Amino acid sequence: ANGTKSSSPSANNSKPISFSSNSTINLDQGDPTVFEPYWRKMGDKCTMVISASDSMSYFSDAGNLCWFLEPKLADAIRNLHREIGNAISNGRHIMVGTGSTQLYQAALYALSSPEGTQPISVVSAAPYYSQYPEETDYLRSGLYKWAGDAYKFDKDDGAYIEVVNSPSNPDGSIREAVVNRAGGKLIHDLAYYWPQYTPITHPADHDIMLFTFSKCTGHAGSRIGWALVKDTEVARKMIKFIELSSIGVSKESQLRAAMILGTLSHSYQNFSSNIPDNFFEYSHCLLAERWKKLREVVERSELFSLPDYPLKHCNFTGKFSQSHPAFAWLQCKEDIDSEKLIKAHKMMVRGGVRFGVEPNYARVSMLSSESVFNIFLQRLSAIGNHLSVMN
Ligand code: PMP
Repeated sequence: ANGTKSSSPSANNSKPISFSSNSTINLDQGDPTVFEPYWRKMGDKCTMVISASDSMSYFSDAGNLCWFLEPKLADAIRNLHREIGNAISNGRHIMVGTGSTQLYQAALYALSSPEGTQPISVVSAAPYYSQYPEETDYLRSGLYKWAGDAYKFDKDDGAYIEVVNSPSNPDGSIREAVVNRAGGKLIHDLAYYWPQYTPITHPADHDIMLFTFSKCTGHAGSRIGWALVKDTEVARKMIKFIELSSIGVSKESQLRAAMILGTLSHSYQNFSSNIPDNFFEYSHCLLAERWKKLREVVERSELFSLPDYPLKHCNFTGKFSQSHPAFAWLQCKEDIDSEKLIKAHKMMVRGGVRFGVEPNYARVSMLSSESVFNIFLQRLSAIGNHLSVMN
């Protein structure tokens, strides 16, 4: 998750970090440094040079509704969705944002009505992504307001926007809308609908779908997200929001994203020739391996449990697989505040309350660097041992 809260972004640079046995490790945000070794291995294949006279104008594509979208990025996005098969992009407006965080806010703006007498309610099924409540209410908008868990939303409460986050951050489950009332408006946040995290079972086809470069390839620092939007009026209003908040999106970032996403498509086209460098193949194996190790530790500890994910056929890999989510959603079997317990063992994680559920849950990032992940496994096993000695 984006990390404005507890640590400075500079805590993670690309150099290997050495930890003393006493350092606290940060597994609170989903900072995707796990993928750095892959991109380092790519050497200069995705290096680009931008000279001082390049990309100076505000405009990228003056004739397009989304006039600040670099055409190369639009092409790379459409190609990638076609090849992965995770979303329908043909006939949809593509909108770029400064992270999908900006697009989430643009979508709230676009779906609410300035004529409404009451702010429209925004709901999401708990456990929901912990940033939704804060992002929704931070500016105390008169247009929309956070109304909590979609399962508890009273159907008589009037107009609503439901955010469907699938696979879900924090628990990795596959979600569908739960309120299902006529006139309800939906935002589908599909940040994790990529083959390294979950089997791709069908091309998603919803009114507003949000994706992010941060979780697709791990380039969170570029701050690039995109939306696929069916309705032209909604697209127009989202663009208006981005115009007002940042007059477009960094061209340097867009061009870099276009190049990197383009490389993914290219390596996928060579998938059949069994190129070991394929990013999705590599990252799928890496997360599968991490989940295997984590499940072994959790089973031994007897203190925590993890969700089970069903085997599903992935149309992209052609194989059956479980999900390997970007976060581990740990549930303490006893009535203990999991965040506090884990924190006492020098690991920063995010407790259940932030996601709208009980404090015996905690979310732990699975996307850290290798060294941090190994320390996490050691310390998690120590918690189990420690408590069984105390009992
Ligand atoms: N949605 C979800 C579910 C996320 O987990 C995140 C990042 N943690 C975002 C949106 C925001 O991503 P971005 O970096 O593109 O702003």
